[in-house]
Amino acid sequence: MSAGSSTEPAVAPGTLYVVATPIGNLGDLSTRAREVLARVQLIAAEDTRHTRQLLQAFGIDTPLTSLHEHNEMHKSETLIARLLAGEAIALVSDAGTPLISDPGFNLVAAARTRGVSIAVIPGPCAAIAALSIAGLPTDRFVFEGFLPAKTAARVSRLRELIDEQRTMIFYEAPHRLLEVLRDLAAEFGAERSASVSRELTKKFETTYTGTLANLCEIAEQNADMARGEIVIIVTGHTAPKSTAQSLNADQLLRALLEELPPSQAAKIAAKLTGEKRADLYARAMQLGGSKRED
Ligand code: SAM
Repeated sequence: MSAGSSTEPAVAPGTLYVVATPIGNLGDLSTRAREVLARVQLIAAEDTRHTRQLLQAFGIDTPLTSLHEHNEMHKSETLIARLLAGEAIALVSDAGTPLISDPGFNLVAAARTRGVSIAVIPGPCAAIAALSIAGLPTDRFVFEGFLPAKTAARVSRLRELIDEQRTMIFYEAPHRLLEVLRDLAAEFGAERSASVSRELTKKFETTYTGTLANLCEIAEQNADMARGEIVIIVTGHTAPKSTAQSLNADQLLRALLEELPPSQAAKIAAKLTGEKRADLYARAMQLGGSKRED
């Protein structure tokens, strides 16, 4: 790991820097982010007024230009031309990591296609921040962003996720929190474990954990839960069909292996479970079938 050297230029010409900014606490703007934002020729920001306030807090007066969902397609071309002419440009959004439920995808994709060098200045991201403190499985997770605002579309999206085994991360608007928690409980089951994190890194940061039923109750009784910015995390489906099937197959094989040699146990188990006989035979051997083959 290198901390960089004082002779190293802070920004490389012709490079697009994708810079994460705080999700609430200004102390989370990294030293590298400050340095890059101060030294690039231009900052492309989701909302220039919002980013101007951030820059002012750090005494940075780099010129700003807007890049938001309505102008991104057309603006990307102008920015790529400037990058190809050798300017260093930073991309920021209003909070957290650009492109994560924020503008920037078109610019970064176009920059890749055109061979522009791209560097990341990583930092805050509400999804990862919430996941890291939820106490829910983190080995495999999926970011779902915002669910559809309309009930029918949201329920249909949730139905597509019913068998999702990975932990799911959702962003949500505070005024929809209760109805979304109710929909999650109805579709995924009230006993599914989940968390709601609000106002991360800010004064009223709070994380609520429990089953979806518990979280619905808290949201019904405590209006504070739905104040501020919110991330919902829901554990994945824990009894996927394939695991349940192989568990049953194992139980069945164990019972059969007490009485029969592996080949016969596999043959009967294949008939009963619909799984392949060869796979079950291999599994029977792993389970240590000891009856002699006739
Ligand atoms: N790019 C951002 C990131 O990296 O997290 C996300 C931008 S998205 C437009 C805004 C949503 O992120 C909010 O509605 C909320 O769901 C979530 N969010 C942002 N800041 C948050 C915070 N401090 N606490 C909880 N959730 C936050």
